Amino acid sequence: MATGKRLETNVRGEFYVTNACINCDQCRQLARNVFSEVGSYSAVTKQPDGEEERTKAFHAMVSCPTGAIISEQKEGLAEAINDFPLLVEDNVYYCGFTSRNSYGASSYFITHPEGNWLVDSPRWSPQLASKFEQMGGIHYVFLTHRDDVADTKRYTEKFKAERIIHVWDKDAQPDAEHLIQGIEPVMWQPDFQIIPVPGHTKGHMVLLYREKFLFTGDHLAWDRQRGQFDASEDYCWYSWQAQCESMERLLCEKFEWVLPGHGDRVQLPEHEIKETMNQLFIRMKE
Ligand code: SF4
Repeated sequence: MATGKRLETNVRGEFYVTNACINCDQCRQLARNVFSEVGSYSAVTKQPDGEEERTKAFHAMVSCPTGAIISEQKEGLAEAINDFPLLVEDNVYYCGFTSRNSYGASSYFITHPEGNWLVDSPRWSPQLASKFEQMGGIHYVFLTHRDDVADTKRYTEKFKAERIIHVWDKDAQPDAEHLIQGIEPVMWQPDFQIIPVPGHTKGHMVLLYREKFLFTGDHLAWDRQRGQFDASEDYCWYSWQAQCESMERLLCEKFEWVLPGHGDRVQLPEHEIKETMNQLFIRMKE
């Protein structure tokens, strides 16, 4: 799916970014030594050095939502595609294959003895679907909110999965199998807690898995430049006041990973999570 014209901001060499880039940050998260933000696009500011960096550059290429990353050589690409979903930790994976329809939002996959979960949706990929199949298929598709549904329908149909969405965002998947109501948290099996967090959209929810992994959609993300949590008032479509209140309710939850749709992932010790979440809440109220 290569698209666009090579940007002049790239250094010479095998990998480059084109003007099809929508500046979603995925490549800069996956291959930090290779891609940087230059103006309002990404660019290859250093060609990969060695196999590991080259594989990461291919991971970025596979994850790019617009096909804006090109490699003149394809050796190693098939193996890099086969790496997906990429392990985060324990039985939690990052799916890659982001979709232009969700502006390059990250999605995740959890393997579980009582049925696997897809958290938000990647773009449709037969290779990725085949990997999900090998890993036991998909039982639930948890949708944090209406914006990041991407190719949910195709994955749902393929795996006869059950979608979970909040009733206030259900226009994105009107025929979803499970609708969450109100703002009270819902325990779903002993390991999963669904927490409605109105703000970015009215029906936004986060998913807390084993009190360790918090899947946050567009409610909360890590800002790696500033080393702090971030929530965006500019991209808050429903109510900033509601998002502040939702953030306050999250302060009492225990977790160590934050896995967002947009923005960076992070793992921190519990006390640092508490401190940085608290700092964010104070900034949000200012
Ligand atoms: S992943 Fe693609 S669209 Fe996103 S910032 Fe990188 S080059 Fe641009």
